[in-house]
Amino acid sequence: MRVTGAAQRDAWLADTFPPVERAGPDLWSVPVPIPDSPLRYTLTYIVAASGGLVVVDPGWDTEAGWQALAAGLQVAGASPADVTGIVVTHIHPDHHGLSARLRGACGGWVAMHPAERDSLSDFRWLDGDARRDDLAWLRGCGVPDDVAAGLAVTGEVLAAVLAMAKPDILLDHGDLVPLPGRRLRAVWTPGHTPGHLCLHEESANLLLTGDHVLPRISPNIGLQPHSAGPPLAAYLRSLELVAAYDTAEALPAHEYRFHGVADRVRMLLAHHERRCEEVIAILARLGPATVWQVTQELSWSRGWASVTGFMRRAAIAEAAAHLRHLADEGRVSATAAAPGEPGRYRLPQLH
Ligand SMILES: [Zn+2]
Repeated sequence: MRVTGAAQRDAWLADTFPPVERAGPDLWSVPVPIPDSPLRYTLTYIVAASGGLVVVDPGWDTEAGWQALAAGLQVAGASPADVTGIVVTHIHPDHHGLSARLRGACGGWVAMHPAERDSLSDFRWLDGDARRDDLAWLRGCGVPDDVAAGLAVTGEVLAAVLAMAKPDILLDHGDLVPLPGRRLRAVWTPGHTPGHLCLHEESANLLLTGDHVLPRISPNIGLQPHSAGPPLAAYLRSLELVAAYDTAEALPAHEYRFHGVADRVRMLLAHHERRCEEVIAILARLGPATVWQVTQELSWSRGWASVTGFMRRAAIAEAAAHLRHLADEGRVSATAAAPGEPGRYRLPQLH
C-alpha cells in the first residue's frame, strides 16, 4: 500500500481536519465532520462534469456538516443549488445523513443500490413494536436484560432513520451514474451493508471505496435482526471483487487516499480469518457459548471495557456475523435454543 493522500494522512495523525482537496480531474474531497466519533469526518466527494455536479456521501446531518459541505462546493466553484444529483455508498448516517437537506436545496436526485433502499424501508418493520422486537433479538444473543435495555433501538434513533432521504434513482451493479460527460460506474460490494456501492471513475481510474475498503481500519461487518443475508460471506466476496481494481487509486470515505487495493484486500481477508480463528479458540475454551459470551471474550483494540453504547451493539453484531459464517462453513454448530433461551454455538463434536 502507498498513501497518496499525504495531507489527509498528516491531518489524521495530527488529529485535525484535512483540507478540501482536488483528488482527480474535476473531483474534490471534502471532510465533513461526524459529531463525537473517533472517525472525525467523512470524506465527501464532489464530481463535476459538463452535464451536472454529483455529490457522493454528503455526510452527517449537522449544521457544522452542512457548512463544511458548502465550503467544499465553493472550492469546486459551486454552491449547494448547483448539485444535480447525490449518490450514497450506503445509508449510514455519516454518509446519507445530509442527503435530504441537500436534495431540498438543489432539487436534484438521490441514488443508491436497491438493497440499500430495502434496508431503509425495512425499518418500517420497527414501527410500533420496534423496541420490543429488538430486545427479543438481543435476548436471543444472550445479552442480559439490563444491558439490552441500553442497546436496543429507541424512538429517537428510529425517527432519525425514517427521516433520511428515499432514493429517486436505483443503481444496480454495473450501472452508470446519470452524470453526462463522465463515466462513474456502480460496483456492488455488499457486506458492510447489503447494498453498499463502490464507484469506479473510469477515465481517471479512481475507485471511490466508501466504507468497503479503508486504509487503516476494518469496517464493521455485523449480523443484524433485519440482515438480508449472512454479511461476512458477502463481504469476503466483495473484497475479492474489488481486488481486481488494483491499478486504481482508492478514494475511501474515511481516513486517506491510497494505492494498492489488492494489498489492502489481502490484509482484510487475513484479518477476518484471524477473527474466525479467535472465535473458534474461544469456543474451545468456553464450550457452548452465546453470542454475548463470545463478544466479551474477543479482543477489541481499545479493550472490552471501553466498548460502550453504539460500539457495543456493533461488537455484538460483529461476533454474531462471525459465528453465523463459521456455522455456514460447518466449522461450528448452532445448538437449537429452547423457547425463551438464548441460542448457543459450540465446536462440532468429534465422533
Ligand atoms: Zn462511514
